[in-house]
Amino acid sequence: MDPAYTDFNAYHTHILKFVNECLLPIEAEVDATHKVPSHIIDQMRTLRLFGLSIPKKYGGLDLSMEEISLISMAVGRSGAAFSTKFGINIGLGSRILVKDGTEEQKEKYLPRIASGEDLAAFALTEPEAGSDAINIKTKAVLKGDTYIINGSKRYITNAPTAGIFTVIARTGAENSGAAGASAFVIERGTRGMILSEPVLKMGEHGSDIGSIEFCDCSVSAAGLIGGVEGRGFKGAMNTMDFGRLFVGASAVGIAERVIEETVKYALSRKQFGQPLADFELIQGMLADSKTEWLACRALVLEASRAVDKGEKAVVPAAAAKYFVTETLARIADRAVQIAGGYGFMHGSPMERYYRDARGCRIYEGTNQIMQLVIARELIKEMKKAADASCS
Ligand SMILES: Cc1cc2nc3c(=O)[nH]c(=O)nc-3n(C[C@H](O)[C@H](O)[C@H](O)COP(=O)(O)OP(=O)(O)OC[C@H]3O[C@@H](n4cnc5c(N)ncnc54)[C@H](O)[C@@H]3O)c2cc1C
Repeated sequence: MDPAYTDFNAYHTHILKFVNECLLPIEAEVDATHKVPSHIIDQMRTLRLFGLSIPKKYGGLDLSMEEISLISMAVGRSGAAFSTKFGINIGLGSRILVKDGTEEQKEKYLPRIASGEDLAAFALTEPEAGSDAINIKTKAVLKGDTYIINGSKRYITNAPTAGIFTVIARTGAENSGAAGASAFVIERGTRGMILSEPVLKMGEHGSDIGSIEFCDCSVSAAGLIGGVEGRGFKGAMNTMDFGRLFVGASAVGIAERVIEETVKYALSRKQFGQPLADFELIQGMLADSKTEWLACRALVLEASRAVDKGEKAVVPAAAAKYFVTETLARIADRAVQIAGGYGFMHGSPMERYYRDARGCRIYEGTNQIMQLVIARELIKEMKKAADASCS
C-alpha cells in the first residue's frame, strides 16, 4: 500500500497539499456554481477520504477519531461544502451499518461507501420532526418479506445525488417513541422513493441537500439494518458523537482559514496612512479570534481522544460542536467587520465565510439541543452522585 495511507503524518501532509493546491483555488467557483467539480470528487476518492472511519476489511482506512478530526480540520480550511462531500459517507451514512448491520449488509454496502463509488445519505429529519426527531411519522409496514414505506424527509444532505440511503422510519405504533423506530438501507432507484432537486440555501454551496418522498416504497426485509426492528433511533443517536466531532473539527478548519485571510486583509488595507493591522482595536479582534480558535482546537482534540479511549463522550462531543460552531460565527462576524464595506459585498471571501459559518449551528442537532444534551447529562450525573452518597 502507498505509504501515504499507512503513515498518518504523511497522509495528513498529503491532504493539506490537496486542500491548498486543489480546493482553495476553486472555492469561489464552487460558491458561484453550487457544484463541486467531478474531477475533485474523483481526487477525493483516490485520497480515500470517503473511507476514513470505515474498517479496513471493507476498504476503509479505519482512522482513530483524533486522526479523523485532524483530517476534517485540514479539509475544513476550504469550507464545509468539500468536507460534507465525504462527511456523510464516513459518519451518519455508514456508522449505523458498521455498528449494527448484518455481515451481509456490511459486505454489500460498506465497500461502495468507503470507496466513494456511491455517496451516502442519512434521512431522519421530516417536515414535522426536526429537533423533535423521535416524533418521525414516516412509516414502514411489513407485508410478507417486504416493507412498504410512506412518508417525507427533508433537508437531507446528498439526497439529490446519493446512491445509498440510511433511512429512519417508524415500524412501531404512532407514539412508540425510540423503541418504534427502525433503520433501513435503501438504494437509489428503489421504486417509490422520489428524490427532489437540490434545494437552494444560504451557504455551503456545492453541498446538496434535498427532500425524499416515500410513496408505497417497497424495500426488501433484507434492508432492515441488523435485521431487528426498533433499533434505528438508538443506532442513530449512537452515531451522534462522531457527527458532532466531525462538524466541530471542520469548523475549526474553517475558522483557522478565516483568521488567516483576515490578518492578510488587515495587513494589506491602509487607512489613516497605515495598515488596519496596526490599529489596536483591530488587533484586539484578531487576538480574540486566535485565542478562541486555540480553545476550539484543544476542545475538539480532547473530545476526540475521549472517544478513542472508549470513554463516554456525549458531553465533550456536544460541547465541542456547540462551542466551536458558535465561536466560528463570531470569528466570521469579526472578519466581515475588519474588512469593512468589502466584507459586506457579495463575492468577498468574508461574505462567503459568514454565510458558510451559519449552517453548522443548525445541523447535527441545533446548538440549543446541544445545550439541552449537556445540561441533561450534567444534572443526571449530579443526581446519580447524590443518590450514591445517600445510599
Ligand atoms: C445544511 C443542512 C443539512 C442537513 N442535513 C441533514 C441530513 O443529512 N439528514 C437529516 O436527517 N437532517 C439534516 N438536516 C436537518 C437538521 O438536522 C435539522 O434542520 C435540525 O435538526 C433542526 O430541525 P428543524 O430545522 O426542524 O428546526 P426545529 O426543530 O423546528 O427548531 C427551530 C428552532 O427551535 C429550537 N428548538 C427546538 N426544540 C427546542 C427545545 N426543546 N428547546 C429549545 N429550543 C428548541 C431549535 O434550536 C431552533 O432554533 C440538515 C439541515 C441543514 C440546515
